[in-house]
Amino acid sequence: MIPQEFIQSLLGRVDIVDVVDRYVKLKKAGANYSACCPFHNEKTPSFTVSPTKQFYHCFGCGAHGNAIGFLMEYSGLAYPEAIRALAETVGMPVPETRSRGDRPASPEAQGLGARMMDALAYYRAELKKSKPAIEYLKGRGLSGEVAARYGLGFAPDGWQNLEAVFDDYAAAAMKDTGLVIDSDPGEEHPERKSRRYDRFRNRVMFPILDARGNVIGFGGRVIGEGEPKYLNSPETPLFEKGRELYGLYQARRAIRDANQVIVVEGYMDVVALAQHGVENAVATLGTATTPFHVGKLLKLADNVVFCFDGDSAGRKAAWRALEVALPVLADGKLVSFLFLPPEDDPDTFVRREGKGAFLAAVAGAKPLSQFLFAELAAHVDMATEEGRARFLAQAKPLVAQIEAPALGAMLRKRLAELARLGPEEIDRLIPSKAPEIRPRTAPSRAARAAPASGEAKLLGSVLARPELASRVPDGGFIAPGPEGAALRAVIRFFRANPGANLGQASAYFEGSEHQPAISNALQDPLLKQAESPDFDLASEVDSWVERLRAREADRRRAELEKRVSEGIATPEEHAEFNQLLERLAHAKSGNPLPEARSKL
Ligand SMILES: [Zn+2]
Repeated sequence: MIPQEFIQSLLGRVDIVDVVDRYVKLKKAGANYSACCPFHNEKTPSFTVSPTKQFYHCFGCGAHGNAIGFLMEYSGLAYPEAIRALAETVGMPVPETRSRGDRPASPEAQGLGARMMDALAYYRAELKKSKPAIEYLKGRGLSGEVAARYGLGFAPDGWQNLEAVFDDYAAAAMKDTGLVIDSDPGEEHPERKSRRYDRFRNRVMFPILDARGNVIGFGGRVIGEGEPKYLNSPETPLFEKGRELYGLYQARRAIRDANQVIVVEGYMDVVALAQHGVENAVATLGTATTPFHVGKLLKLADNVVFCFDGDSAGRKAAWRALEVALPVLADGKLVSFLFLPPEDDPDTFVRREGKGAFLAAVAGAKPLSQFLFAELAAHVDMATEEGRARFLAQAKPLVAQIEAPALGAMLRKRLAELARLGPEEIDRLIPSKAPEIRPRTAPSRAARAAPASGEAKLLGSVLARPELASRVPDGGFIAPGPEGAALRAVIRFFRANPGANLGQASAYFEGSEHQPAISNALQDPLLKQAESPDFDLASEVDSWVERLRAREADRRRAELEKRVSEGIATPEEHAEFNQLLERLAHAKSGNPLPEARSKL
């Protein structure tokens, strides 16, 4: 748990413009800054960052949040991680209220991250000293510049080299870095001074970075002969293989620019492609593609190209990626598969054929649907009924997993053609997951929201311009319900924290019951209009207060009318009723507009 006071003062210290600009180049646009949205694909900028609100908002896809939220969404960090990352940039130490119980010490408490950085510095320095390692990288066509960009290093031969780097080489925390191995008791080795020894020896080292650029693990490729050829860090508190993609930290911008990500099998492939100017490639880390990987990849770009070796292992890996991708496919996303010649991997291919040939191969990658049917058809005799029935039986569970309506429909149609069945027969065999097929209109989050209530309008307005909170008086005219409750809470927050901005308010309400209402209210198109300097949001607020008051007056009038007609109204209620009628009549004659009725 990180105390709320700390989060508030952190957000008071950082400037969201600096935070965002570190990842997305911002341009000044009036009082705000703008850029093409990093969270959806667009040609004209609708992503704005407001220095006064300390908030970002995309009017295209509806993404919004404060500096913490930006880091979470952009880098995939969890809430506390994003706060820590942000605090680091301004050098504020994060106070933590330790939760009870004896949980294991956090990775940072053990200094794991710092140890990984120390190891990286050591490996990089060793690379500069090692002629064979430099020769090896040169032999693979890598420049010093690319080697530096990917932080390549070298772990020299020897069992306990890291002892010179870490004073506490024997400490338990060293084990958690994955940099060392403890041999089993009794497993003596003549060259080792102790049971503990370095995991990586005589290998070119590829640091594996997380979204923030911290070293979380290493991959090592042996120089010359030796087994295994590639060796990765084990899973550690810092490093979870199924969630990480090698090279993503360096590739992020290129992926966004190309709206395409190429997934390859090894780190050497990523680095070699970068050397040849193909910078939007990442690699899985010695694991099969996981659903988490695919989800992350589809978030990064609309086109995901899996590039596998042409051998049988490559085809197996591709099939596995296909199976994992099926349930998460969405219309508008394109997943395709590129198989290089059996003797090639992307590294050898791009070195021999060059960038143009590689990109041409990528452009010719097989769409998922083609790969799916071709692979299934290859194992049966499609000329016979029995073969086609088998084909259908195998395709059925796969196609049934597709939830994307248009894609699912197209695949079922193609399946019907291949199996030589009519569309009705296919529909009977594989019922469609989606009830109907709608044209792809790319509904934005804003467009999906229901028409906003007066409370939501006021809520959005006050969040956008906290000084307007004073124009919304206390009173019974704010309806109960989530929006009304959020409005009251937000007004209370701004009264208690004069000068607080939207970024701070949103941090305050993060995870609270009011968060959904707040998030919805911020999508109101009214707030986009209010961005224009000559828009009078204050009058808008006054008018909504009036309308809500009129609504409340109407409600009260109906309530009193009922009591009067039933003969159960008190004398006070009679007086109130008459007064109300008088006011309403006066308002009607004075001004026909409902929002201009007199005050309650
Ligand atoms: Zn957007």
